[in-house]
Amino acid sequence: MTAMSTMASEYELLTPETVASYIATNPTLAELVDASTLEVAEVGDGNLNLVFLCQDADGRGICLKQALPYVRLVGESWPLTPQRVLAESRSLSVAAAVVPHLVPAYYGTDEDRYVLAMENLFGWEIWRSKLNRGEIHRGVGALLGEYVANLAFSTSLFALDQMEVKQQTAQAINPELCRITEELVFTEPYIEHDNNSFVDELAPEVAALRSDACLRSEVGLLKHRFMTAAEALIHGDLHTGSVMVRSTDGRGDARVIDPEFCYYGPVGFDLGALIGNYLLARGRAAVLYRGAEYCEWVAGLAEETWNAFEANMRRLWPTRVDQTWTDGFLDAWLQQVARDALGFGGCKAIRRIIGLAKVSDIETLPPDEHLRAATMVLRTANTWIKERQQLGGVSAANEVFLEVEAAVMQND
Ligand code: ADP
Ligand code: MG
Repeated sequence: MTAMSTMASEYELLTPETVASYIATNPTLAELVDASTLEVAEVGDGNLNLVFLCQDADGRGICLKQALPYVRLVGESWPLTPQRVLAESRSLSVAAAVVPHLVPAYYGTDEDRYVLAMENLFGWEIWRSKLNRGEIHRGVGALLGEYVANLAFSTSLFALDQMEVKQQTAQAINPELCRITEELVFTEPYIEHDNNSFVDELAPEVAALRSDACLRSEVGLLKHRFMTAAEALIHGDLHTGSVMVRSTDGRGDARVIDPEFCYYGPVGFDLGALIGNYLLARGRAAVLYRGAEYCEWVAGLAEETWNAFEANMRRLWPTRVDQTWTDGFLDAWLQQVARDALGFGGCKAIRRIIGLAKVSDIETLPPDEHLRAATMVLRTANTWIKERQQLGGVSAANEVFLEVEAAVMQND
């Protein structure tokens, strides 16, 4: 247990019964809802925290998120600093200024009890659940590219003075949460570890990954980049379970939640989290919805997100603070980010098949489909990681998948 976790372990946790009186004693929150008529439900289906959804008799709402001093998924045996709620409030308040249309409204943070207050997203649903049901939400991929680009630009050397970036980088340091990613994403899947689990039939695929020296070197390089490339304040955990979605008149809308892993890291990591999770959805689509319109739409998500990211970076580029950076620099930087995105995307997909914290896209499939989808994901991810320099960009991601899919289906 670290000193930070020990120091922070004495504070009162909220329960559905105590939330109303907690809100009543906080003037800012008490203005937003009527605490005397509040209905409260604890819905934390996530891996780490308590989440309370509250609604008063007039239909006004609020969402409180309280950090536990340990990892919820595992229990008190895995202590984790509740200071992570401060990381979440940092990212959310930056996003509220830069992309207010893509995050829940932010109402403030109680630093003594590690409680963050935000808009209650009634009527929205976690994107992964909708993907699992084969629902199409057009435009969501592009909104997420816009989110990443605007956060990246506005928190980096592109928009801020050099002194400011260094101060922000220091303030945003998030070592305990970064260590989780370093271990779960970049280390454990490639070694024997108690946190890993997979069906026996997948053992040959996993053994092949682990004995692939080239893959191991490339994953090491990506891990090193994650640990050293302080480009911008990134979300740090931007998978399809960190996005809430709804559609009106056929147009999808999105709100990004749960940025507690944020720190100054490589911009391609957020894009990689997205395309890695699109790959998991794609694996499911390939075995459940083959040939359907939904399948085509999922296949286009990586490119949709990338194109929006690139378009927004190019739109903002003329406003950069250091005009000595040329347009050629931007082209080269975008190419680097695209390679990072493919590599990180591969790592993010592989850990969901082999390591701790699985995803419903793959886990809820019947045994045969599960094996086929998982195999497609592992092989596609392997190629993304090893060939990311040659693939020539995110648009190649889908071509790699199609080749792998054909081979896996043929072998059946
Ligand atoms: P964790 O950090 O523990 O993973 P999340 O931030 O992902 O927690 O939240 C857990 C769940 O709570 C989400 O999957 C979502 O269903 C719900 N949730 C979180 N924030 C909101 C919100 N602002 N409005 C409505 N539901 C939310
Ligand atoms: Mg979380």
